[in-house]
Amino acid sequence: MAAVETCDVLVVGAGFGGPVAARRCAEAGLETIILERSRVPGEKVVSGLVIPFYGFTFGPDFIREGNPPIERPICRVVNRFVRGGEIYATDSTLRVPKPLALGYSAYCKPFCTWLADRAVEAGAELRTSTTAVEPILEKGAVKGVITDRGDEIRCRVLIDAGGTQNRLAIQAGLRRKYLPEALELYMLWDFEMAKEDVDQTFGLSMEFFHALPEEGIGAPLGYGSTLYIFTYRESIHPGLGQFLVTRGEIPNLAKLLPQYFENFQNKVTRWKRDIAPKVKLRATTWDVCPIYAGLIPETRNMPIFGDGILIIGDAAGFEASAFGDGVPSAWFSAELAAEVAVEAVRRGDSSPYVLREYEKKVREHPYITWIITDWRRWDLRKVLVSGDERELRRMIRDHWGVGAFRYRYSGRPLAKAVREALRRDPHAPLKWMEMFTRYFRNWEENRFDPLSVS
Ligand SMILES: Cc1cc2nc3c(=O)[nH]c(=O)nc-3n(C[C@H](O)[C@H](O)[C@H](O)COP(=O)(O)OP(=O)(O)OC[C@H]3O[C@@H](n4cnc5c(N)ncnc54)[C@H](O)[C@@H]3O)c2cc1C
Repeated sequence: MAAVETCDVLVVGAGFGGPVAARRCAEAGLETIILERSRVPGEKVVSGLVIPFYGFTFGPDFIREGNPPIERPICRVVNRFVRGGEIYATDSTLRVPKPLALGYSAYCKPFCTWLADRAVEAGAELRTSTTAVEPILEKGAVKGVITDRGDEIRCRVLIDAGGTQNRLAIQAGLRRKYLPEALELYMLWDFEMAKEDVDQTFGLSMEFFHALPEEGIGAPLGYGSTLYIFTYRESIHPGLGQFLVTRGEIPNLAKLLPQYFENFQNKVTRWKRDIAPKVKLRATTWDVCPIYAGLIPETRNMPIFGDGILIIGDAAGFEASAFGDGVPSAWFSAELAAEVAVEAVRRGDSSPYVLREYEKKVREHPYITWIITDWRRWDLRKVLVSGDERELRRMIRDHWGVGAFRYRYSGRPLAKAVREALRRDPHAPLKWMEMFTRYFRNWEENRFDPLSVS
């Protein structure tokens, strides 16, 4: 028999954003349920990533004050420029001294499990292996969902944290599928590497390899992105992405991405000499990112709230157009949505009149709008087509080098976020330092909070 139950807030998705929203709502005393289609939180998110520092400094307090399972602090970005398989220039101007970090690499399963544990600890109920298959709609208002078991879960506010591939907001008539031009398909190779070898070969860095299209070692520049290597405690992830439609053409990505990587492995001396002898392939994965969702007006202007529903993170198209990082915005939007949901439940009114406050908060946020409308990566395509190597190096310096911190780039939102943080708490910088130091020590000692599921 199908069950019918009710709660105050129903959060769909226990990836990066969902548990943050759920924890906030549960802390405010609301009856909160999280549904997650996979067996373990984070299992259906990309296998691993690097979360930039600003997600931690300006994101939820409990993450900053906790001991989440990070894999490696990233203190330096190394940009390698490749010609004929050889590195002809290196730009590693983007760096900070430890224990500061530009970001932290993490595997999604343990990290999202840690987040979900914090939501449960605050009183939220987590139901894994449960998919929300369709919204319950009454006179255009979202009143809950039907699950894959046929159960009805009714709520006062639904927070859609289901990421890129979930269809709830589309079924509710609020959003449409992303245009293929906004989507980048990624292929990642997960290689085991002994910790001492990662330490020796990369240290606390991640590496990017840039080359002109004729090199064929990454998605041909001008068509997508470049080849990167994310570093973890005892593994590395080379990754390659390309747009589903590039310059009006539909590339055969299933064929091309493995081909670029094979070329990279066969041609680039750094890989052949310094890396290949020390690694063993463990897994290969694919995933999709709505990187340009914010650059395409049609997508950017799709609603992020409706009657009874708030949409956060990737489901709302909040992925960064320059770097592809979406975790900070998932955290920021989760907190904003939770604040509005708490207020809506308190007032007994989850109509658009109350929920539109969420959109206002998103617009006012120092990072979210800025991050989804950053043209740097788009502009990089142009120079890659023109083949001007000098210009390529200049642009990389402004993108993944020290120029990234210029005021007109990341400097402006950073300055605004710092001002706001200081206004709220004059001791914020001390807390940031304390976090960087503790995270670094945790990493050195390989000691983090225990997880409910290992
Ligand atoms: C290849 C790749 C590399 C990336 N690299 C980075 C990076 O380096 N740094 C960074 O910050 N970001 C990166 N991102 C982006 C980042 O993964 C996302 O922005 C982030 O995970 C968004 O969080 P979210 O909570 O919105 O969605 P997700 O984390 O995707 O979580 C959605 C959750 O909802 C669940 N779900 C979906 N539909 C349903 C349903 N109907 N019912 C129940 N559960 C459902 C899913 O199983 C999933 O657990 C990368 C993404 C990709 C694809």
